[in-house]
Amino acid sequence: MTELLADVAVSAPLKQLYTYLVPEELAKTAQVGMRVRIPFGRRTTVGFLLKLRQGSSEGLKPLKELLDAQPLLTPQLLDLLRWAADYYYHPLGQVIRSALPAGLGSDKGTVKILHEPVYQLVNKQASPRGEKQRQLVDLIGAHGELGLSQLRDLIPAPHASLKRLVELGVLSCREKELQRDPFLSEPLPEDTNLTLNDEQSAAVQAVSAAVGEKKFQPFLLHGVTGSGKTEVYLQTVAFCLQQDLQCLVLVPEIALTPQLVARFRARFESPGVRLAVLHSGLSEGERYDAWRAIIRGEVQIVIGARSAIFAPLQKLGLIIVDEEHEASYKQGEGFRYNARDLALVRGQQQNCPVLLGSATPAFASYYRSEQGGVTRLALDRRAHAGQLPQVELIDLTEQTPEGPLSNRLIEALQQCLERGDQALLLLNRRGFAPFLLCRDCGTSFHCPNCEITLTFHQQQREVRCHYCDYAEPPAEKCPKCDGLQIEPEGAGTERLEEELGELFPGARIARMDRDTTSRKGAHQRLVQKMLGREVDILVGTQMIAKGHDFPGVTLVGVLGADSILNLPDFRAAERSFSLLTQVAGRAGRACGGGQVLIQTFNADHYALACAAEQDYQAFYQQELPFRQELGYPPCGHLINLVLSGNNSGQVKGAAEQLASRLATAAGPVEVLGPSPCPLARLRGKSRVQILLKSSERPALRRLLAQLDAARCRSQPIAQRGEPGG
Ligand code: ADP
Ligand code: ZN
Repeated sequence: MTELLADVAVSAPLKQLYTYLVPEELAKTAQVGMRVRIPFGRRTTVGFLLKLRQGSSEGLKPLKELLDAQPLLTPQLLDLLRWAADYYYHPLGQVIRSALPAGLGSDKGTVKILHEPVYQLVNKQASPRGEKQRQLVDLIGAHGELGLSQLRDLIPAPHASLKRLVELGVLSCREKELQRDPFLSEPLPEDTNLTLNDEQSAAVQAVSAAVGEKKFQPFLLHGVTGSGKTEVYLQTVAFCLQQDLQCLVLVPEIALTPQLVARFRARFESPGVRLAVLHSGLSEGERYDAWRAIIRGEVQIVIGARSAIFAPLQKLGLIIVDEEHEASYKQGEGFRYNARDLALVRGQQQNCPVLLGSATPAFASYYRSEQGGVTRLALDRRAHAGQLPQVELIDLTEQTPEGPLSNRLIEALQQCLERGDQALLLLNRRGFAPFLLCRDCGTSFHCPNCEITLTFHQQQREVRCHYCDYAEPPAEKCPKCDGLQIEPEGAGTERLEEELGELFPGARIARMDRDTTSRKGAHQRLVQKMLGREVDILVGTQMIAKGHDFPGVTLVGVLGADSILNLPDFRAAERSFSLLTQVAGRAGRACGGGQVLIQTFNADHYALACAAEQDYQAFYQQELPFRQELGYPPCGHLINLVLSGNNSGQVKGAAEQLASRLATAAGPVEVLGPSPCPLARLRGKSRVQILLKSSERPALRRLLAQLDAARCRSQPIAQRGEPGG
């Protein structure tokens, strides 16, 4: 006898699906894309129903419960998730779980759907009694229907009268799913379509044409800082909405892009268009509501950070990835993926164009546009006909200043203040000082869990690890030599802010970094203060380089420009070029020009020289041979295997064994290492890496598959799902 069976993915490090019997009482309601509760080993867990089919139920356990009334996952989304699980070599159940709003993939039970009564006028002839009843009938009649929460705002304590009116048959009442609406009721800027310049309008036309044809086409909008990329987005989105299609807009971090979100809301939010902004400040309930509203097709525009790439829009007409070069599109833990790359896959699967925008495109994106796989659209001029700023490198090898600021930069700040303009100072290091040092014996203080010095935070009176958040009070005497001269070395943003206060006592100085923006709304308040000219000098980490449009800024200074350049990462040059060009682009956006001073020990490095010229092509041309010769992406493919564990000897031994096994099976794959990770100890674990490099992707995949098969044979534990493997 055949019965209805369900194939289920489990949110655990397991590659295969599991099959269950669908009990008769659930057979009518079970649908692909729902969450189900299943017996699993000796416990129960949550799984995702991926397939229903007929078959023999012999030896199968039944599903226990359906956790959703409607599917949470659409077929299109499942296609994308399957692709991602395969490409990133990650178990499908865990991929699905990380795609869903937090709380939905776990066993914690379901998020409650809230309901509220909604009232409609059914008997227009009825003559209500009493003032309150009449008011209610008028109000509801005028609106068509009204929910209890809205009525409460308009008329105090309406409950008894409403009940009476329903009893009298004047009103009808039904339960409606309630939307927890996360939008702060903040004032929105005035906003209308701008008249596009030629470059902008060519870009809007090209992308709109692809939207109209409903076909996949990747675009790279390469527009210098201040060239008006946002207006291009806004007008293509408008076209998309006219075609009755939906848009997905990815931004690096919602909290850091209040200006972009506000412009989208100001332009599009209206009775007919609903925008969903997905951000980390949402509660579980709010996320759940947004997800369901998107599935029901009630949302036309979704704006969100990287995980919004999984928003279940079904009539997708366009995907935009703003600041596509940003590293934050990459999820670095658990299910590792790059939302920018997934955007291209999703566009292909759902037949819609994908618009990647940046002033400093990711090397890989520009490479693709050179190869012809991506259509490049250029905005070479600033929208306000302003010039790009003048950039000057200050060579610290010629003259090392005593404090963090060179004389040249101090002078420029002075002049900027005298002009009544605003200045931005980038120092990519928060805290007061990167470390404390004993003046007598040279001891510095390290994190007990990580191989890193503890950063001194003066305001909190503590030293703190920026990787694992370990913190302790600063030592008063040296644990080695009992010396009492323990002093902060180097400068972080906190110290810079303090020194500026001493140098420019009259100036209003503010700081923007993770420490000052952790509270809700704090970042936005700082942005408002900058826009309202309540700040003269803003000090900050790379946060200040991102997407802001501060018209009053005419001077940008960069301290510690070398910190990224010295990272052991083949993208170090790219990231330096990008950050410096972006921060330089914050200067002189309104008036044209503007001045940028970059202090560096590497004035000759091409990444800095090209950033100074703000010449992307020149950077690209110099970077290309380096990638080609060494076979680094996008000119080759890499897989980084990281082994970590408590016992450093064991980790090293296992890594050596693995590397030699890999080397014998390698074929056209180069096996590099094992070698210690750049952070050789992190959160108490030793870390060793093996790098696999090849010009052929399939060869890398074959090697991984072999490795997996061998591991499953030798470690059956991994198959049972303990996170050991
Ligand atoms: P980008 O994102 O490319 O750095 P923005 O989109 O922030 O640049 O635009 C920079 C400034 O130029 C904004 O203040 C914007 O309002 C303005 N702007 C953009 N396009 C136009 C246009 N066509 N005409 C006038 N001003 C424009
Ligand atoms: Zn640590």
